[in-house]
Amino acid sequence: MRRASAILSIFLLPIFAIAQKTDSSLLKIEAYIKQMTLEEKIGQMTQVTLAVVAQNGWGNTDGVLDTAALSNAIQHYKVGSILNTTAHGFSPETWRHIQEQIQDEARKTRLKIPVVYGLDAIHGQTYTLNSTLFPQNIAMAATRNTELARAVTKITAKELRASGVRWNFAPVLDCGRQPLWSRFPETYGEDVYIGKTMGATVIKAYQEDGLKNPTAVAACMKHFLGYSASRTGKDRTPSYIPEIEMREYYLPQFREAVKAGAASVMINSGEINGVPVHASKYMLNDVLRKELGFQGLIVTDWEDIIRLHTRHLVASTPRQAVAMAINAGIDMSMVPGDFSFFDLLKEAVQKNEVPMSRIDDAVRRILTLKVRLGLFDYPYPEPDAFSNFGLPEYQFVALNAAHEAMTLLKNQDNTLPLGKEKRILVAGPAAQSISALNGDWSYTWQGKEEQWYPTDSKTIAQAITEKLGGHVTVVGAKGFDNPENYDIDKLRSAASNADAIVLCLGENAYAESPGNTTELALPENQIALARAVAATGKPVILVLTEGRPRFITSIEPQMKGILMAYWSGKKTAEAIADVLFGDYNPDGRLPFSYPRSMGEMVLYDRKHTEDVREIFNSDMTWDGYKPLFPFGWGLSYTSFEFDDIDLSTRILHGAAKLTVSINVRNAGNRDGKIAVELYSHQQYASISPSMQRLRAFKKISLKAGESQTVTFVIDRNDLAFVNTQMKTVTEPGNFDVMIGDKKATFAYQP
Ligand code: BGC
Repeated sequence: MRRASAILSIFLLPIFAIAQKTDSSLLKIEAYIKQMTLEEKIGQMTQVTLAVVAQNGWGNTDGVLDTAALSNAIQHYKVGSILNTTAHGFSPETWRHIQEQIQDEARKTRLKIPVVYGLDAIHGQTYTLNSTLFPQNIAMAATRNTELARAVTKITAKELRASGVRWNFAPVLDCGRQPLWSRFPETYGEDVYIGKTMGATVIKAYQEDGLKNPTAVAACMKHFLGYSASRTGKDRTPSYIPEIEMREYYLPQFREAVKAGAASVMINSGEINGVPVHASKYMLNDVLRKELGFQGLIVTDWEDIIRLHTRHLVASTPRQAVAMAINAGIDMSMVPGDFSFFDLLKEAVQKNEVPMSRIDDAVRRILTLKVRLGLFDYPYPEPDAFSNFGLPEYQFVALNAAHEAMTLLKNQDNTLPLGKEKRILVAGPAAQSISALNGDWSYTWQGKEEQWYPTDSKTIAQAITEKLGGHVTVVGAKGFDNPENYDIDKLRSAASNADAIVLCLGENAYAESPGNTTELALPENQIALARAVAATGKPVILVLTEGRPRFITSIEPQMKGILMAYWSGKKTAEAIADVLFGDYNPDGRLPFSYPRSMGEMVLYDRKHTEDVREIFNSDMTWDGYKPLFPFGWGLSYTSFEFDDIDLSTRILHGAAKLTVSINVRNAGNRDGKIAVELYSHQQYASISPSMQRLRAFKKISLKAGESQTVTFVIDRNDLAFVNTQMKTVTEPGNFDVMIGDKKATFAYQP
């Protein structure tokens, strides 16, 4: 009843009657801007975190708001946006109640402008309890399945909107070329094409129903730009990126995302070549706005205007920091712990340090997003959205996604799949962990607090025990760091009764700076476990649950099988068990080069000069790219064979299309899927060409004995690179195209 009368009164208020037509919406927005005071405008540009308006601030555990603090934020400071959770996620009902109170408060303001709420739904709806968590982006990249990425994204949007929230701070489009970086798991890995393709797919999936629809949310591509390339690998530290590299490896994902219609963007907290991106007119205005043509809303990352003064030291006062960022092109400040931004921006405008035209421009973009999201029509959680939460079919999608992420790295002597009659010993710190299967942004920011996970979440030990019944022994205990998981003597004695050992190692959840590491090698206590189990002489299957590649080079030779499971969400354990015991034939492919060691960190799209290891003059080897497992690696329980590549022409002219076809055959005796990948290599070019670049992929399913012709259509744009004039060009010359173990050559003539 209460909501029904709210709907009515909103529709009766002319100020809320933003018509459906875009042009009349634009007129309304201009009408608002004319009426708004400076404070009202600056308030719209201010985003605070929930803790500012919640009882007990960060200590809040029940989502109860502090009414005085809420009124102070919305009435006094006129804030236009709130984000984040407090200590952990809430139920959908609590989230909806939070949204209702916030919008009720907004309706008490002079202009009744609704508040836009933003959350980080990073791999599923992070902060709503019992939401469906999916594989992290790095694992979604391993699926090489854009349809699956689409399905996962649609569910995330629905569960977010069912929680009353319409703005998602996702996807991460940073290119994961530095595995030391703690946010590597949030990336689509080291390849530009996968990042572009997955990113654009996901943005469309979030938004394509129309932002007003209760099945859509506004996407926020992040973090523009170069965040992942920090020189030390430490979170929020400087990147040094030559323009040519920036344009080749880091910008294309954002260019595609803008084309896909991304409604908003979040800025890199770090700096490029000494210039904090939040203060970079070049990056925000010249590149993002002018070159990429981005029209949407630019929001800062956490506290990043304040940090121009406190960390980057490019602004000598807090006010200068504010003026710098707003003049550079920031529309909304994720302040987010206080109202300092509001006061400082007001002063800066009054002192003519920020022009009113810039403020109006920012407010226009903020109001446009609110109009597009339908917040002026109905700002409350929409009853139509509620039933889209927690549907049983979401679990199937989660399982499909986890299955397709599983990447089999090694299967010596066809040890896998293991027979279900075998006596299995399951051990290792990840064996009884839920958090080490899900990773960051899982009901809490860091994802480590297992009490918030759905009660039906399974550990690897549980999933294997359920599959095999009695003949499974589990050694160790709950808690990734629990000393019982590192008890070598216990493990050794349990091994004597086992036919095979499933050893679950990797990383427990971490996010952002707390995930900084000094070492990519697996911790010593995990290596010691692996050595001890290998010494028993029993076949050992290593299962890795990790968000980034941790070196396993010293133990790899002793492992009979290695399964990379990443952090694949709610159904990780079931997917692992299905692969280990043959109920699912694995088809994931590495989205990064699995390095051997700190001294062997060459990426797959290396230059020829990185391939060569020159000893002296002609004394050289061509094995410079020597990862433990290469980019694109992933085994199957069946075998696929490729016929020769068929090209529609040997000379590609101008803007013509080239059709590349290949017949793929499942030559084994199991049904299976395979991601067919097309790579190209230009033989000679004006800047040294990459040895291979992924240009297309298609995932297909083949029954045992079945064949299928896979066809790719490419053109010169797919062969382009950034030249020394910073132009993306395709130069004439000979190109190799590689699929599977086959290669064909054609010439491009403009
Ligand atoms: C992260 C962003 C995130 C924001 C809001 C920051 O610390 O860098 O990716 O969207 O917090 O939670």
